[in-house]
Amino acid sequence: MRPNLPTLGGPPKRNPFGPVVAVSVILGAAAGGVWWWKQRMADVPMDVASQSALTVDAGTLAQAPVAPPLPTDPVKAAGMERASIRIEGPLETALVQAAGPEVGPALAQVVTRTLVWWVRVPGEILRGDTLDVLYQRRPNEEPLVYAVRFVSGKTGQTHRAYRFQPTGETNARYYLPGGDELELRMEHSPIDSYEQITSLLRDGRGHKGVDFRAPVGTTIRAPFAGVIKRKNWNFGSNGNCIELVESGGKGRRALFLHLAELPRTVQAGMRVSAGQVLAQSGNTGHSFAPHLHYQLMLGENRVLDPFDQHKTFRAALAAPQKASFETEVQRLDGLLGTSVAGK
Ligand SMILES: [Zn+2]
Repeated sequence: MRPNLPTLGGPPKRNPFGPVVAVSVILGAAAGGVWWWKQRMADVPMDVASQSALTVDAGTLAQAPVAPPLPTDPVKAAGMERASIRIEGPLETALVQAAGPEVGPALAQVVTRTLVWWVRVPGEILRGDTLDVLYQRRPNEEPLVYAVRFVSGKTGQTHRAYRFQPTGETNARYYLPGGDELELRMEHSPIDSYEQITSLLRDGRGHKGVDFRAPVGTTIRAPFAGVIKRKNWNFGSNGNCIELVESGGKGRRALFLHLAELPRTVQAGMRVSAGQVLAQSGNTGHSFAPHLHYQLMLGENRVLDPFDQHKTFRAALAAPQKASFETEVQRLDGLLGTSVAGK
């Protein structure tokens, strides 16, 4: 069992603290279990109390011995936790302090996936910035983040993102308060659909590509017309992979890693047009979870940011979904409350 890391592929990193991490993961899972158990136990008397209150009339109630009301934490009642931090040093350190060592590091990674759409991480996260996060621990999985509120000294703005699953959609996504998606989408995208972008060049991880988390079998397309240069090199790391060299233009190179088994038609020298189906996404090679690693290069060594190279746009929620989204925003804003960061 491995923790679900946001950088889903790339070169393996040797970690001298492997056993320590393994132990903390086990402890973290155990703590999550205890927390969950406590949650369940805390819920039971409340439910019983409210149900019995419905079955007795006011007169009976007045004479019954009345227990003092239990303090109810609406965040806890919603099955969430809240972390409020003021940046004084590394984001991860602050989240470990606020949320504990079991969930803090993973929470920092998940939260970073929202922050990167507003500022560069870590360089533009500044001392004095504040962050409020609503999240839920999950056994053996990264925490689920419901809402992020980030007050940025760099932009001078309060940024907010909310997790919401539109009716009929397979995946929940993060949305800005106005109903536009948090993540930019690419025109001539290399992948037809995906759940989330889990690694970007500007997230400070030194990772050379963009990772799209997507079920195995998602359609992969050529972002530009070109010629297939090679396939399945360095198979142990890359798994099934394709390199496509752009015809004309800048002569960029596009690398697609961790694909499903390639169609036999894909061969070096094959010409493809923009938008042509190349393969399907997979989970092969050094990959923690099904995803596409998409990398753009110029010449031998220059790594390009696909979000600079592609035209981008923000998709908006469909009008019929707006009302339920706004209800959810109100609920999450209520749970976020007033920031207590740094107090
Ligand atoms: Zn990657």
